[in-house]
Amino acid sequence: MLTTPSDRALVPFVSVENMLALVHRRGLDRCLREITDYIAEDFARWNLFDKTPRVASHSPIGVIELMPTSDGTQYAFKFVNGHPANTKHGLQTVTAFGVLADVGTGYPKLFSEMTLLTALRTAATSALATRTLAPKGAQTVAIIGNGAQSEFQIRALAAVCGFTAFRLYDIDAAATGRCAGNLLALGLSLTACGSVEEAVEGAEVITTCTADKRYQTILTDNLVGAGVHVNAIGGDCPGKTELHRDILLRASVFVEYTEQTRIEGDIQQLDPKHPVTELHDVLAGKAAGRTDAGQITVFDGVGFAIEDFSALRWLADRVSEDAPSDQLDLITDPDDPRDLYGMLLRYAQHTSTNIG
Ligand code: NAD
Repeated sequence: MLTTPSDRALVPFVSVENMLALVHRRGLDRCLREITDYIAEDFARWNLFDKTPRVASHSPIGVIELMPTSDGTQYAFKFVNGHPANTKHGLQTVTAFGVLADVGTGYPKLFSEMTLLTALRTAATSALATRTLAPKGAQTVAIIGNGAQSEFQIRALAAVCGFTAFRLYDIDAAATGRCAGNLLALGLSLTACGSVEEAVEGAEVITTCTADKRYQTILTDNLVGAGVHVNAIGGDCPGKTELHRDILLRASVFVEYTEQTRIEGDIQQLDPKHPVTELHDVLAGKAAGRTDAGQITVFDGVGFAIEDFSALRWLADRVSEDAPSDQLDLITDPDDPRDLYGMLLRYAQHTSTNIG
């Protein structure tokens, strides 16, 4: 110890290793169900939260974003990137980390990896939207885009909504093979398809989770029949969409936070006044969800800061039980809070150095 132990306020840190251990110990299904519940609880407290579209720094090939929010008691932010070409270089499209802090003192309470946690909360959010909006008796899901998020999307739709039949398509057949192979032991019905058309055949729910930083048309209008529910989660940046505009015009569109989704979601293709419904209002019974069996519902999911807050809140609760964490030497905490300089002096004494 180069200063004194009391000079540091150690912050619990959930590393990638710790997160892997937590999910294994607790079970992925249970984690996904719990995170879905935490998101639903926080959506029910929607008005308490600070809300702002995320702060995005765009480059021609990607984006780095900060996602802050607070419920007045706790504050959270996530740092996340989105670089669709990364996988060609052996890097992930999406990586993330984040912090939960105490509003009363401003001190961080938890620091965490959030690449895995983002996959969990994105899947939980899709499952929440699907549970709320999918047609009654829906049995089959098409998953278009079989990259890093896809297994989590499938696991959440299975754990939270009870789906067992999935039809998979990716422009890269190897990605579909990996996804199906990773889930083989679960006893789900997984059908690898050779085209989007084949994948959506008979599917009452379609999830698009592709990555391409441009206006894409993953689903054309003719591919979405009456009564289908779509989770469009890969169109999440200006200039990055997945659905043909005509689908959105025929559908009832549901979003997380309208102001952010108008900038980032598939609805960036529509008139800014086009009516959309926020999912939390449907959950609270303040707005209609699916009103008839033939209605097309689209959840234009872009990922909102409150979902990350919920995921971090879930994680902090697990850490305060017995989930593994490390202690991060992140915050100075000198005995006299105004004697920050004294820490430098004590370091010099302990190390026989001179601060100059
Ligand atoms: P990834 O790069 O690991 O996987 C994307 C997959 O899409 C790849 O396998 C790729 O081959 C496939 N693909 C690209 N174009 C396609 C096309 N035209 N048809 C079919 N497949 C196609 O990315 P990921 O981490 O799985 O993320 C998927 C998308 O979800 C990204 O766009 C990411 O930005 C987005 N995302 C959204 C949220 C959210 O909250 N809404 C959260 C995380 C990630």
